[in-house]
Amino acid sequence: MLRPGVGIVISPLIALMQDQVQALLQLGVRAAFLNSSMDADNSRRVQQQLLKGELDLLYVAPERLLNEHFLGLLTRLEAASGVALFAIDEAHCVSQWGHDFRPDYRALSILHERFPDVPRIALTATADAPTRGEIVERLALEQARQFVSSFDRPNIRYRVVQKNNARQQLAAFLDSEHENDAGVVYCLSRKKVDETALWLREQGWDALPYHAGLDNETRARNQSRFLREEGVVMVATVAFGMGIDKPNVRFVAHLDLPKSMEAYYQETGRAGRDGLPANAWLAYGLGDVVSMRSMLDAGEASEERKRVERQKLDALLGYCESTACRHQTLLRYFGEEHPGGCGECDNCLQPPETWDATQAARMALSCVYRTGQCFGAGHLSDVLLGKQTAQVERHDHHRQSTFAIGKAWDATQWSSVFRQLIAGGFLTADIAAYGGLQLTEQARPVLRGEQEVWLRRDAPKAKRGSVARTMHPVGSQEDGLWQALKAKRMELAREQGVPPYVIFHDSTLVEMMSLHPRTLDEMARVSGVGQAKLARYGDAFLKVFEDAANGV
Ligand code: ZN
Repeated sequence: MLRPGVGIVISPLIALMQDQVQALLQLGVRAAFLNSSMDADNSRRVQQQLLKGELDLLYVAPERLLNEHFLGLLTRLEAASGVALFAIDEAHCVSQWGHDFRPDYRALSILHERFPDVPRIALTATADAPTRGEIVERLALEQARQFVSSFDRPNIRYRVVQKNNARQQLAAFLDSEHENDAGVVYCLSRKKVDETALWLREQGWDALPYHAGLDNETRARNQSRFLREEGVVMVATVAFGMGIDKPNVRFVAHLDLPKSMEAYYQETGRAGRDGLPANAWLAYGLGDVVSMRSMLDAGEASEERKRVERQKLDALLGYCESTACRHQTLLRYFGEEHPGGCGECDNCLQPPETWDATQAARMALSCVYRTGQCFGAGHLSDVLLGKQTAQVERHDHHRQSTFAIGKAWDATQWSSVFRQLIAGGFLTADIAAYGGLQLTEQARPVLRGEQEVWLRRDAPKAKRGSVARTMHPVGSQEDGLWQALKAKRMELAREQGVPPYVIFHDSTLVEMMSLHPRTLDEMARVSGVGQAKLARYGDAFLKVFEDAANGV
């Protein structure tokens, strides 16, 4: 903005551009976008504005930027009023190991070849050290300084719960903590998205589905309702999210495991962007570990890629099973130190117990071995518990030496043991053998009695109260005023067809309530109320305070 000429922002998603341009226009910045959603007239109008020097910022998709016509336009522009800079947003899309790879991003190296004098900046909110290295290399930014801000999101409370009945657990979580809040529920498959959204609607939640299998119109409508209305729950696959910059998403729930720590960090990072308290809640169980491990092994990917993905999955499973502070574990993954004891994660609020599971682990591993390394955890647990099931008898497993040796623990505990042994890499699941468990090299020292195994004791179902929190930003005696401010914001947003947060963030309204402005000067002290917004909305919001004072 401070440099002469127009800034070109390269952005991977149309939704992202529209959102950001809307927000910038509200702030009085002359911004526009060019993308494939526009008709020829609109597109020509923006190009004319561009050449006349009437724009401060222009958003373009990489494929648009890279076409010869547009590059020619930029060349003319550079000779005339100048190009202030190229800002490459969501720069992690350049990484082929990343989760959002976009081949077009690779070609962006053309920018420094064609326009060596225009400064370039690459931006991303989720890149571990290898990904950062790849961004530097691919975009030819070796000479560039790197600015790495903290990955910490202290207002997000991270929680991992053991799955027993995921839907009921989700409903209980929403009921107790997020009655009227907007949030996202992530599922792995389209089918599960549809089913979960339907089920939540039947339970009375304003839930909508979002995945790549829905037609464009439905997707756009659901996304728009999520952005423009308050309290919508979006049930979605990972297709939903990039570029969703709604600041008052109060929770992100995972009913299935994300693919990696980066994906988890990015998905949960959609909660609480306004800095107010938010929840990241993940339900996770034995079935997830088995299916994630076997899906990966059975995939078509090259061995090298599988190795990378296995490491990423290991890190994620390690996080799920960890008994350490979640903020600390997450940050460590991104190469950042955190002292721990955050007070805002399940492990800090309710420190989990660990137990010496060496004997149980040996029994479990030896049962896997004796039964031929082709059975799932359910059957193995039946054998250990000495259950005479049809399958046990069919395979003669009641004659095995490990039959009925594990009665000191119950089925739930065995499920926990197997889950943690798989997560910890002692066992692997073979999809060709229907998820049958096999020993890994790591299991040997345990079987030989050379290594202790300590596992996490899963929390009993009922004991969850002290971790829960509700998200009311204001006290109940102020609730009337809070509702009035939100209603005014919604009214103004509807008039312009923009999401309410584009008018003011929740955090701005919260600050307004504590300052109780009576004049425009006082209103101007509220953060989030700049010159442009003061002029447009100042009076309307002062009136809300006036009415409240007069008991209207
Ligand atoms: Zn913590």
